[in-house]
Amino acid sequence: MPLVGSKELLRSALEGHFAIGAFNANNMEQVQGIVDAAEEEKAPVILQVSQGGIRYAGLAFAAAMVRTAAEGASVPVVLHLDHGTDFEQNILCLRAGFTSLMFDGSKRPYEENIATTARVVEIAHICGIPVEAELGRVLTSTDGVTPEEIRAAMTNPDQALDFVQRTGCDSLACALGSVHAMKEAKATLDIELLKAIRAKVDIPIVLHGASGVAEDSALEAIQYGVAKINVATMLNQAFTRGLHKAQQELPDNTDPRKWLDHSREKVKEVVRHKIRLFGSSGTVRSTGLVSPPKSYRTVDIGGTEE
Ligand SMILES: [Zn+2]
Repeated sequence: MPLVGSKELLRSALEGHFAIGAFNANNMEQVQGIVDAAEEEKAPVILQVSQGGIRYAGLAFAAAMVRTAAEGASVPVVLHLDHGTDFEQNILCLRAGFTSLMFDGSKRPYEENIATTARVVEIAHICGIPVEAELGRVLTSTDGVTPEEIRAAMTNPDQALDFVQRTGCDSLACALGSVHAMKEAKATLDIELLKAIRAKVDIPIVLHGASGVAEDSALEAIQYGVAKINVATMLNQAFTRGLHKAQQELPDNTDPRKWLDHSREKVKEVVRHKIRLFGSSGTVRSTGLVSPPKSYRTVDIGGTEE
């Protein structure tokens, strides 16, 4: 089916107490692994491309890959811009056919974050496209952050109310204790803070840096208003592990497809696990559309699974 917007999906997730997985993709194998898992799980899915992903693949390629995957799927697929820190990047993505945007002004002064978010929202809404914004700041582990810095960057509930009212954003990325690019899932979210934010704003809350969040903590957050959960680092780890393993098992291979096929399967396994964890598995019941046959098949390279 054609790409869909994220607004209704996130609203359904919020009301149904499940979350929609938002998975970062940078290449064709990642896009296919993500959409295949969503298709098999009958789950709606958000594919997101970061500005780094756009630099890597090119905006036109990134949009075309996800659009093509969506058109071959029977489940709803969203094409979302992840951490669009520039006004211009958001507008370029809008023009390229993205069905969901994010303006991330969390590094800017509060009033500037509001002003630019509101500008993006005004333009995107004319086109019927929803916008995620960020308040507070989800930090990145490679910056060497301390627990004190993580706490100081958390979202302020009173500010959240003011921010949502003045920007008109459709969903809000909140800093609840997670950190981007963590290699292990050991962070615990501040659920009391999440409750306080939800008491002030009724739009879906977005969890960033979920690769580093303990699964039981993420599950608790879903019960209190987190409706979109971003997963990137874990997918990159799975992709790379699959590649290394395939290279070890087929060291003399010169056909990259035989390696990348394994990476694609590893991505798919992680996405399937996350979709089930987030409770979105089986939430697409009947679309009336049939997916066309897949034109690629898994190559069996032998060896045991991890
Ligand atoms: Zn993020």
